Amino acid sequence: MGTTYNVSYVATLFRHPVKEVSRVVHDALADVDQRMSTYKPESELMQFNRAPVGEPFTLSSDLVQLVQDAQVISDLSGGAYDITVGPLVNLWGFGPTQGAAVREGHDDTGSHLLANAPEFVKWIESQYPGHIPDESAIQEALDNVGYQSLKADPEGSTLTREKALFVDLSSIAKGYGVDQAAAALRAQGIDNFMVEVGGEVLVQGVKPNGNPWRLAVIGPEMGKNGVSALVEPLDKALATSGDYLNFFEVDGKRYSHTINPLTGWPEAKRVAEVAVIADTSARADALATMFMVLGDEKGLELANRLGIAARFAYYADDGFETITSEAFKPYLVKQP
Ligand code: FAD
Repeated sequence: MGTTYNVSYVATLFRHPVKEVSRVVHDALADVDQRMSTYKPESELMQFNRAPVGEPFTLSSDLVQLVQDAQVISDLSGGAYDITVGPLVNLWGFGPTQGAAVREGHDDTGSHLLANAPEFVKWIESQYPGHIPDESAIQEALDNVGYQSLKADPEGSTLTREKALFVDLSSIAKGYGVDQAAAALRAQGIDNFMVEVGGEVLVQGVKPNGNPWRLAVIGPEMGKNGVSALVEPLDKALATSGDYLNFFEVDGKRYSHTINPLTGWPEAKRVAEVAVIADTSARADALATMFMVLGDEKGLELANRLGIAARFAYYADDGFETITSEAFKPYLVKQP
């Protein structure tokens, strides 16, 4: 998924050998990657993104369910969160550009370029500098965005594109991978663990010393010893989204990978990072992206109204400020 993962678990004596546990976790993540990646041209999702418009396309039931879960968050946010944002993500250069495909070792003729990838990747990168698309290209991409035109039929396990949508699950499927890896650990009879994939974390049970898993939120404001907050999510998931890791600058202005599907532009409110705690990692992952688009004022109001555990770090005159929803407060560990 273009990132790293790590798992800590408490093994019962002579059971749960690392080799076997590593295999089941890897297989769970590889399965999500194979099916839900926009970076793998032959993934299930990318086959759907090329399927004829207007015709129901059969997909795995959990992928259809994940789309429905994402649609609930789109409704919740008035469309600020929208997995059909793909054409805009790709237009602004944050999607699976040819550069990413080459990084995987394939160019459009499918030939492997690993031998001279560094040169070629440099050339590709030079084709995709941070650039601001022109307004007509943004409008054209916007014409093919809108979650209301993506129809899910869980009975038939199909999705239908009512226009030339490009569904991008990058905001939710990494979290879903965490949930799947956690399910694989539980199936092995492991009850105490922490799973982290690219910054999305799910914890269950306790550490070997009987204490709860304690997580550091490394935010942009880099508080004391670089930690923005310490949390103990108990048997829940923590996800963060921010605008300071995946962005480009033009004339001193930052354009991040969080796109407002209603305007077509990268969202640029004052919020720098959002941390969300929720029952599943997929839900936390998607909500964190949603709040990055809504911003801290509207986001905090929604989080408090719906009892969502969210913490916002935003740019202030002299650095950063943070605000926390009521539901997030019980998870915070008082910093020494
Ligand atoms: P999040 O905030 O969780 O997600 C931001 C992403 O969501 C954006 O990059 C965009 O794709 C999308 N998005 C932007 N705005 C919105 C919006 N308003 N509503 C909904 N979605 C929005 N990256 C690689 O470089 N190489 C890979 O091979 C690769 N494979 C992947 C395979 C899978 C299955 C997934 C899920 C992702 C993969 N990625 C890959 C992408 C990489 O993991 C993403 O950058 C990452 O998932 C984004 O997570 P985040 O926590 O950084 O940001």
